[in-house]
Formats: sequence, C-alpha cells, structure tokens
Amino acid sequence: MIEISNLSVTFSENIRAIDHVCLSVPDKKTTVVVGESGSGKSVMLAAILHILPSSAKVSGSVKLDGEELLIKTEKQMEQIRGCELSYIPQGGGTSMNPLLTVGYQVAEPLIEKKHLSKKEALRSAVSWMKKLNLENEEKLAVSYPHTLSGGMRQRTLIAMGAITGAPVLLADEPTKGLDGGRIETVIELFRTLKDRTILCISHDLNVVSAIADYVCVMYAAQQVEICTAREFFEEPLHPYSKMILAAMPENGLKAVLGFAPAHTKQGQKGCHFYSRCPYRMELCCKEPPVVGMKNRRVRCWLYADSD
Ligand code: SF4
Repeated sequence: MIEISNLSVTFSENIRAIDHVCLSVPDKKTTVVVGESGSGKSVMLAAILHILPSSAKVSGSVKLDGEELLIKTEKQMEQIRGCELSYIPQGGGTSMNPLLTVGYQVAEPLIEKKHLSKKEALRSAVSWMKKLNLENEEKLAVSYPHTLSGGMRQRTLIAMGAITGAPVLLADEPTKGLDGGRIETVIELFRTLKDRTILCISHDLNVVSAIADYVCVMYAAQQVEICTAREFFEEPLHPYSKMILAAMPENGLKAVLGFAPAHTKQGQKGCHFYSRCPYRMELCCKEPPVVGMKNRRVRCWLYADSD
C-alpha cells in the first residue's frame, strides 16, 4: 500500500504545487486521480518517485508498505524504481532515447533491474509490444523511436513501465493522445493487471469508469474528494466533482478540465474552488474541513456537520 500523508511540494516564489495531500492507495486496486492540468497530479507522482527538479521542496510523508520513501537516498530510489515501483510517463519527446532501438528500451528495465539476459529481455519486450497492439512488433523492436507515431510511442512507454512486474504501478495519463481502439487496448491491459497496486492519472472519464476502483479528485493543489468509483459517478459530493461529471458524456473532461487555476500561492486562505463554486457561502472564505463519511472524504463546508 502507498500511504501519502500531508504531502506538500513548493517551488520557487512560494508557489505550492501540492498542498497537504493525504491519500491511501490500497493494495491490488486501481486509484485514478482526476483534475485539471496543473492541479498537482503529475507533481504528486514525481514526488513519490523522487524525480522532481532540485528546486522543489517536499514535505510530508510517502510510505510504501510502511517504509518512508521521502528519506531514501537517490541510490536507494534507483533500486526501488522498476523493482517495487514502476512508472509510465506521458509520451513527451524526451521520454525515449533516440539512439537506442525501441525493443532495447522496452527490454532495458528487465536487464537492469531483473538481471535478465538481453535475449530473454528482448523476447519479453516483443511480447509486451504485441499485448499493446504494436503491429509488426519484431520489426518495430529493431527500429528507432523517431519512426514511432505519437500513439505508438505512448503504448511503447506503457510496455516499458509495466514490463518488470513491479507490484506498484504509477501511470501519468497512459491513454493521452490515443484513439478509441488504442484506448480500449490500454484499458484491457490495465484490467489484466489486477495483481498490481495502480495509481493512475487520467483526464478521460470513460477510462476512469473502466479501470478505477477509487477516485481522487484534485483541484488547485489539494485533494477535494476521495471515494469509490461508484460513489464518484453515482453520487459525487464535492461541487467540483459534480461540475466534472456534468460535462459527461459529450465532452469528457475537456470542457471542465481545460482551464486550470493550478497551483496556489502559499498562505492562500479559504476554499480554492470559491470563485467557481455555485454553492459558495460566506463561511467558505475560511479553509474548508476535510469531512470523513464512512470510507470517503470531501473537503467542503457543505458537509461539515456530517463528520
Ligand atoms: Fe463550494 Fe464552499 Fe464547498 Fe468550497 S467549501 S466547494 S466554496 S461550498
């Protein structure tokens, strides 16, 4: 299990990218984080993995099976990444080495972390590429990344992230830029990974509904609601969760999640959602409480009496 407590990340000029996030990621379940671009989702994954830039100041706690990760040295984290925690990054231009073949890059975590021979690792790489419907996988394995389309690159990154079988998988928008059929392939793959603990970011509500056991909603650096996927889709509580769902099904999350107030200034008072909230009250100028109801939590004054 990953247990995140009071995780905060600040950058220069007092910009707070993550503000006291608390999140339990249960074993062998899929937790999906939703929220606007810039709300802190990717920063949270980067903090767990120790891959933030050196300007970031991180506080709080991230425990993996009871062991604190934030105090680990880079050398210790190198061992943990790939063996205990694996990561699927977004398919940006710098995610692959242009000088190494695609097959080698998919196989490399098995060679480096699991000490498999190059031949065995490449065989496994080709089979993962096939699982992800990367056609002509044998030929593709000896090609270089510049020959890949954006969608092929994204699926290759999924293979690279998942191949070691690490029990915890962190995925940053694994279906970004994929068309409908390719998204289905990724959903099917995630459904087969039931033995993994998955923390995934997604902007696509159809993907969220297909793979999530739990949903964490983030807004402007804070988590505002954590609940089961069924509760999120059938009975959202936080006004922002309701706003996200009101955008379904025609527009997915895009209509709501395209414009981000993103990070906050340190010391910002009151509810971060105040200016957009149709239910705001005078009380909301004060920091809202995180209200617990059975197994769900919501950060909002509307539910303050339910605690
Ligand atoms: Fe809206 Fe107030 Fe709840 Fe914030 S605390 S979401 S402003 S009702």
